[in-house]
Amino acid sequence: MATRRIQDLNRIRELLQRRRREILSANEGAHRELTALKNQERDPEYEENAQSELADYTLSSLMESQRREIMLIDAALRRMDMGVFGECVDCGFEIPIERLEALPFAIRCEEDASIHELETRGGPMASPSL
Ligand SMILES: [Zn+2]
Repeated sequence: MATRRIQDLNRIRELLQRRRREILSANEGAHRELTALKNQERDPEYEENAQSELADYTLSSLMESQRREIMLIDAALRRMDMGVFGECVDCGFEIPIERLEALPFAIRCEEDASIHELETRGGPMASPSL
């Protein structure tokens, strides 16, 4: 592998690790805020527990999307450890660094990703083009 490519991949690794830390600390902060909200004196206009249910709901949907992103980051980091990060899982060629920078979780080259999207019939918004 070219030295340049290794440097580029290392940069993406750092990016992913930083993003992972950001999500975790944002998650912690949100957790603290919502717990504080739940413990606040309840507005008598609200039905009992409505506020706390709202906080639970907000927290769980927030955590759901963050958990998903952490999973994608972990998968990408694992692929880096195995030395297969940046290789298209379909054709085995290197995914261009520009694509990886825009989509660090990409596991397919652009061409195979669009084929895969057609095959899964998800449409562009239904699933991220990995
Ligand atoms: Zn490919």
